[in-house]
Amino acid sequence: MPGFRAAQATVAPDACYDGRLPDSVWFRTLPRESREALNVSSELPRSAEVVVVGAGMIGLCSALSLARRGVRDIAVVERGEVCAESTGASAGGIWLAHEHLNRGIDAAHALRGRELFAQFDEEFNFDYVRSGLLKPEAAVSVEDARRAVARTRAAGLEAEWISGSAVREIEPRLDYSGGAFFFPGDGSIHPAKLAVALVGHLRERGTRICLATAVSSIGKGRVETNRGSISTPAVVVTAGAWTPLLTRLLGWEPPIRPIRGTLLAWPAQPAKTLRAVTFGRRFYYWQTACGPLAGGGSEDDIGFKAGVDEAAAAAIESEFQTLFPSLASLPAAYGWSGFRPFCADLNPVVGAVPGHEGVYVAAGHFRRGIQLGPLTGELLAEEIVAGKPALGAAAFRPERFGRTPRTRQ
Ligand SMILES: Cc1cc2nc3c(=O)[nH]c(=O)nc-3n(C[C@H](O)[C@H](O)[C@H](O)COP(=O)(O)OP(=O)(O)OC[C@H]3O[C@@H](n4cnc5c(N)ncnc54)[C@H](O)[C@@H]3O)c2cc1C
Repeated sequence: MPGFRAAQATVAPDACYDGRLPDSVWFRTLPRESREALNVSSELPRSAEVVVVGAGMIGLCSALSLARRGVRDIAVVERGEVCAESTGASAGGIWLAHEHLNRGIDAAHALRGRELFAQFDEEFNFDYVRSGLLKPEAAVSVEDARRAVARTRAAGLEAEWISGSAVREIEPRLDYSGGAFFFPGDGSIHPAKLAVALVGHLRERGTRICLATAVSSIGKGRVETNRGSISTPAVVVTAGAWTPLLTRLLGWEPPIRPIRGTLLAWPAQPAKTLRAVTFGRRFYYWQTACGPLAGGGSEDDIGFKAGVDEAAAAAIESEFQTLFPSLASLPAAYGWSGFRPFCADLNPVVGAVPGHEGVYVAAGHFRRGIQLGPLTGELLAEEIVAGKPALGAAAFRPERFGRTPRTRQ
């Protein structure tokens, strides 16, 4: 793969963050002043009303929802930089109708998640493009496809089953002649631009965002970090795939583990070179709003082993060439990877840690942490401020994994 460069980022599980970001299309296309704005750290406070551990999508959305519910004194502590892990490495896909049809997200959460993104879109600029999502399905019967579509539409989400000619109209470069699912309202965002907007908004509201601050332990009313301790009545652990490493110190360990994912980027192309997010048999592809094409989404269950797997990168590039023959001579420019926080039952873990007053967790979102970020923030903030679990999120409750220590699965 000429010109291809493997990612630089990510860290060993117990090591302190090494200060590097994923070499993703998001950080490469982020204007320098935005990049600098992300990288400003607050002084570590001695106390806070709530301490949020981790400044990925889930930590930032949790802090935002808390601030909007009137919590004034919030500290977000992050061992590295904002969005330096899974969030900054993600594809930024907001595919809630597709997820609903595939039974990955229930109707209420998909609808609320979409509504919250629409609200974000009115307020912040983060390249939210509803390009539509195409999912070719040569093997499914038309009856089954129509039934699935009807279920998703009945839930209030846009979904269609379209013929080969309609597929070609939507994505003329795609070499495929069968039927496909199409989700017109699905699309993607620029996660780093969203992070810039959220960080700016949080700072305006007085939230302190403390970078290069690694939490080493959480005790009763205290959080210990490499820069000193913070006394606080409430701690929210939003440490992505690293969450169990912190909560196990409390004797409670949800079955969350890292699943590495690799993505590639191709050089910037004229707008609408690719029009929709398109799924192949193994991976997915789209054009970012800033020009580069991107695709991939491998799933490697290999622990915290950083870097880009050359075999996965070659498979992604080969599928891209097969799907889009008119772009086959375009070589991938670079790749990167990140650790998705996979939870054993495929649902995130959101709410109070059983048996530990004042300690909350929001993690384990696997492939859906960008699209479920605003919803997660809302559920968590509601529970912390109201003092009782938010309604309708029973499947996410931490107590489903018991109160006793667990080993990782
Ligand atoms: C290749 C790839 C593609 C993806 N595509 C999509 C997609 O299209 N759509 C979608 O919805 N999701 C997608 N995801 C999943 C999504 O990125 C994650 O679910 C989401 O980013 C999780 O957010 P998080 O805040 O929980 O974790 P992270 O973004 O990993 O943030 C956790 C933060 O906690 C910090 N931290 C950890 N330990 C400590 C400590 N001890 N002290 C202080 N800080 C700590 C880390 O440094 C990190 O910044 C993708 C992921 C990958 C890897």
